[in-house]
Amino acid sequence: MSLELSKKASAVKPSSTLAITAKAKSLRASGVDVVGFVAGEPDFDTPKNICDAAIKAINDGHTKYTAASGLDELKEAVCRKFKRENNIEYNKNQIVISNGGKHSLTNVFAAILNPGDEVIIPAPYWLSYPEMVKLSDGVPVFIRCEKSQNYKLTMDQLEKAVTAKTKALVLTSPSNPTGMIYSKSELEQIADWAVRHDVYVVSDEIYENLIYTGEKNTSIASLNDEIYKRTITVNGLAKSYAMTGWRIGYVGASVEIAKLMSGVQSHQTSNPNSIAQYAAIEALDGDQKSVADMLAAFKIRRDYIYKAVKDIPYLDALEPEGAFYLFVDCSEALKHTYKGNKLNDAAEMAKYLLEDYNVAVIPCADFGFPDHMRLAYAISDENIKKGMDRIAEFIKALD
Ligand code: PLP
Repeated sequence: MSLELSKKASAVKPSSTLAITAKAKSLRASGVDVVGFVAGEPDFDTPKNICDAAIKAINDGHTKYTAASGLDELKEAVCRKFKRENNIEYNKNQIVISNGGKHSLTNVFAAILNPGDEVIIPAPYWLSYPEMVKLSDGVPVFIRCEKSQNYKLTMDQLEKAVTAKTKALVLTSPSNPTGMIYSKSELEQIADWAVRHDVYVVSDEIYENLIYTGEKNTSIASLNDEIYKRTITVNGLAKSYAMTGWRIGYVGASVEIAKLMSGVQSHQTSNPNSIAQYAAIEALDGDQKSVADMLAAFKIRRDYIYKAVKDIPYLDALEPEGAFYLFVDCSEALKHTYKGNKLNDAAEMAKYLLEDYNVAVIPCADFGFPDHMRLAYAISDENIKKGMDRIAEFIKALD
């Protein structure tokens, strides 16, 4: 048969984080004691008040289709949340509820991109952004942000990267994979740039509740009217409420963009799961104590893992300010050999770590930094300690 398959789909790189997570899971299932620093997934259970709301939704018969772009009641809860926590005024017709933050982002790019439009993606980046942009016929344009600049954009870099084809900038704060946060004054400069060049800002704030510095997340859309018009604020319940499996993401944007996203979604998936939507209302409107408790637990883990990596020779990292990832610079370790083998990149280190030391880590070539690895510390304190001890043993074994 010589039928050609889709060039666009063939060009998509499958998610390497999901692939490594699956490999670690299958090793564990076969009895190997693997420590997995891989999945971007809190190990906590979804809070009880949220689970109870889902059970009530089933018992109340909320098991039918809802409006494709989500329940009115949930959109209202999202508007209240944006006002209360982000100081952004959105109306119901500016909100779209989707099947997770990933789906929200895919819909955003579908709504704003035309073939050849450029999207600036600061590197290191979350690996899905470039693939999502390409699926909507856009062109990812990467700006490399070094450790010396805290892995964050400078204004000089942004000015150099902008062209007549620039349609959007993707901003992730707190960041996956670095844990860095853009301050209010940095966001003000970026907002000024976006308004001056008439560029959309896709602001991914999914880790907003996981900030360890005591500061509150600043939403770029809240800064002034001009940037508000150009910002698409993306969020979801997975990380803040330990609801990865429930698949609820949401977006606040202009009425026009929300309308296009809803239209696309109405043909792709229709509404997100009705029961999960009712649970989401409780998550946003209900008691937020569980969010604070999870943050406190993550902070203890952040402190431990950061100190542990700083104590290991040849590895380095910046102290994460938010999210639950440690972005480890392995460039010094890569100058050494392991059992006589040259280490070309963090992927080779990751292979030996998994095979010989039973530790699964994410090598970051697909995040734009092949000499770095990402350690997700959303696992138990005991496993973090065990895993870091094993990484230290591996480094000790380098020649
Ligand atoms: N944005 C970032 C930066 C992420 O790291 C993730 C998940 O890992 C998402 C969005 C999407 O999360 P979900 O689709 O589970 O809501």
